[in-house]
Amino acid sequence: MADRKVRAINLLSGGLDSILAVKVLQEQGVEVTGLTFVSPFFGSANGERAARQLVIPLIIRDISSDIMELVQNPPHGHGKQLNPCIDCHALMIRKAGQIASEQGFDLIATGEVLGERPMSQNRQSLDTVARDSGCAGILLRPLSAKLLTPTKPELEGLVERDRLLTLEGRSRRPQMALAEKYGITEYLQPAGGCLLTDPAFCERLSELMRNEPDFSIDDVNLLKIGRHFRLPSGAKFIVGRDERDNARIAAARNGHTLIVSDVIPGPTALLVRPRSNADVELAARICASYSDNRGGEVDMGVLTENEQMRITAKVSSRDEFGELRT
Ligand code: SF4
Repeated sequence: MADRKVRAINLLSGGLDSILAVKVLQEQGVEVTGLTFVSPFFGSANGERAARQLVIPLIIRDISSDIMELVQNPPHGHGKQLNPCIDCHALMIRKAGQIASEQGFDLIATGEVLGERPMSQNRQSLDTVARDSGCAGILLRPLSAKLLTPTKPELEGLVERDRLLTLEGRSRRPQMALAEKYGITEYLQPAGGCLLTDPAFCERLSELMRNEPDFSIDDVNLLKIGRHFRLPSGAKFIVGRDERDNARIAAARNGHTLIVSDVIPGPTALLVRPRSNADVELAARICASYSDNRGGEVDMGVLTENEQMRITAKVSSRDEFGELRT
């Protein structure tokens, strides 16, 4: 072993594998700092919780624009949903490499396990990730290291290869046993927390990518709220499902047109980039159909980017707008 403190930066999603990778390194005296990421598709809360549990420092980086690009054009393709896992891993490790060279870390560690995920963690994918990240020499996978080619930190004696592991395959039993050994009780389920693996979210995201190829981070964040409609003009309309949605829609207004059923109890709704007044009228009718009035008309407040007005819309059956739902 080295006669100085060896420093590792460990990708920390909050999943069990990433937590175990930290434990395995700590067991041989390596000083570990966690690294977690934020984007419109995942947050840092799980990584933060894991770092608190491990009592290690944590670095948080925003990779929103990089991952937006990868979701649309993943060089190594998507997983089952819109998850570009191979490219996403390479991106995260590349970011870790930049931090490692700026802050003097000796190695980068991840919780990847050989063969655990058929697409993104087979031997070829692990090699691809290492190569594309540009960090192959210092990238260590402590949980499967003894099944992989020795890395620089192992060859130089910064870490003892003999004390690294040979985990392989899809069974989680060895990880559960290690969790018990290390007293780890709190962790995220595999791939939990990434919206790019959520089929319902990905259906909405695909629809957005098809209809608005120049979509923004704001547009992605709006996919997380309410019922969605695509109006015949191409404008997007979002109707709150409950009070929480209504509050989130009002907070996300950001220059879009807000429609509020404020006389009769009903939803708050957001019309994104309306093309004409016809969009506002149709949106108001959809909004009225979700109010507490089951017939007649509903008077609503409309707040565009520049003006405030009132509009009265006839209550129609919701079925009338069924084809516009996305
Ligand atoms: S599950 Fe999501 S966060 Fe994890 S590697 Fe895949 S795309 Fe990235």
